[in-house]
Amino acid sequence: MKQNFKDLSNIILKRPLIISGPCSAESQEQLLNTAKKLKDINVNVFRAGIWKPRTRPNGFEGVGLPALEWLRNVKLTTGLKVITEVATPFHLKKVLEYDIDMIWIGARTTGNPFAVQEIADAIKGVDIPVFIKNPLIPDLNLWIGAIERFYNSGIKNIVAIHRGFYNNISQEYRNLPEWNIPVELKSLIPNIPIICDPSHIAGKKELVADIARKALDLNFDGLMIESHINPQQAFTDQYQQLEPNELEILLRSLETENFLK
Ligand code: PEP
Ligand code: MN
Repeated sequence: MKQNFKDLSNIILKRPLIISGPCSAESQEQLLNTAKKLKDINVNVFRAGIWKPRTRPNGFEGVGLPALEWLRNVKLTTGLKVITEVATPFHLKKVLEYDIDMIWIGARTTGNPFAVQEIADAIKGVDIPVFIKNPLIPDLNLWIGAIERFYNSGIKNIVAIHRGFYNNISQEYRNLPEWNIPVELKSLIPNIPIICDPSHIAGKKELVADIARKALDLNFDGLMIESHINPQQAFTDQYQQLEPNELEILLRSLETENFLK
């Protein structure tokens, strides 16, 4: 059965939406210091990963529960909306207890219909915006399938996040952009907002700006860009995170080039 998604609503009132913050929540101080700077440069939503999906065990797998309080403090102190990754019904339950404003579904979760369905079942009756990253493999139907599972659970505020696709062929990108895939998603579901995560496509900070420009050129509705108060010391994704002042320079140049209103 073909879904028409006719009553999707659009939470992106201010286009483009700018989400930024660290890959991982590491300490209350790190989150607050980063968030205060981002607030001053017109970031709309603050991101931080609390539970980190790692390819192999024994790496830093996120701070877990204590970071929920930190994220709530960021919200209370700065007034920024906050978003984090949810990968299980337990994560969802905890995130709702701590008034987190929005959630995102990570690439590894989107690729697993069982996991997506469990979260979608747990979210029934809850009104919270859900951002859905593309799966690691370049399979548009798998991405649409995850969108449908949340839509069928009554979630109307759904935003797609293009974060690139698993890459073992090019040295240039960490994840291949395959721009045709998000473009096709937009043509199949015209009323779904779609934002780009240039950080995970790039893998290194030098590439982030060009990918962000390309996405805005293609009329994406926003960007999710990783930033860290001290990227060299970051526990995860240290090469791709921008310092807040580097993000400010990027946002200013996008503004001058008329990509941002
Ligand atoms: C992240 O946003 O830090 C992350 C782990 O993302 P992805 O699911 O796109 O790899
Ligand atoms: Mn990351």
